[in-house]
Amino acid sequence: MTPTIIKSPVEMRAWRRALAPELRVGMFPTMGALHRGHAELLHRLRENCDRLVLSVFVNPTQFAPHEDLDRYPRTFDLDLRLAAACGVDAIFFPDTQTMYPLGFSTYVEETSLTQGLCGPFRPGHFRGVTTVVLKLFNLVEPHLAYFGLKDAQQFFVLRKMVLDLNLPLSIEALPTVREPDGLALSSRNRYLSPDERTRAPALYATLQTAAASIIQGQGIEPTLTQARTTLEQQGFKVQYIECVSVPDLHPLGPPPRAENQAAMIAVAAYLGSTRLIDNILIS
Ligand code: AMP
Repeated sequence: MTPTIIKSPVEMRAWRRALAPELRVGMFPTMGALHRGHAELLHRLRENCDRLVLSVFVNPTQFAPHEDLDRYPRTFDLDLRLAAACGVDAIFFPDTQTMYPLGFSTYVEETSLTQGLCGPFRPGHFRGVTTVVLKLFNLVEPHLAYFGLKDAQQFFVLRKMVLDLNLPLSIEALPTVREPDGLALSSRNRYLSPDERTRAPALYATLQTAAASIIQGQGIEPTLTQARTTLEQQGFKVQYIECVSVPDLHPLGPPPRAENQAAMIAVAAYLGSTRLIDNILIS
């Protein structure tokens, strides 16, 4: 069945309020340009709710002025087909003007987990994400929302927002969906040249090697230095590679990590003009 396409916040709220109260609503927020990773999350969410809402909105407030807002891929017709195949009931596909009318001036900001990793390199990014996701939650009123661990910092920040602001929903993260060679699926992978695409899997391979070495008791700092060198030798320009505690995202270094400390190594690196991020959890 073709999903209902909903274009405005007013219609979104009306659709939601017309549902019987006993129906469990699941929501998956995206910026579109959907791929197999998104499809896997949608299939999983479909099994856990009665009505499934997908949002497709390239949110301008999470892009810094120098970033790729204008060239971000927009493929709504394909997204609609994928959504139909995944059993989506409604797609919320608003215009920028209806989400951010002239004079919009209220933002929500998480101030701890956003300080490291991508935070300093993407000023205003997480403020844009928390603001738009709170607006989406207010309009859709889901019982359950799914996110991908591919954007792990985003997930932990949003989960903190849900806790801190007492939002009445569960929020869950699903593992990163990858290409057979390990590259995390991303809407931005289409920017990679054929040569960059052959080098891109080194990002995750390097994270796997670093995680194994930390688990074997190697120091965090030398391991990260080695990982950075490996990536640079493969032609990456590394923005950061860090090992942080989970879920509070504090940098870990000396003293040695306690064995029961859940941790994550996260990386952001450019291949040519494409910025790739990835991470690996160490539990
Ligand atoms: P975006 O692709 O930025 O619109 O992300 C929409 C949602 O899909 C976010 O929760 C992402 O973390 C998630 N997502 C994107 N790519 C993947 C992937 N390869 N595996 C799992 N989740 C993903």
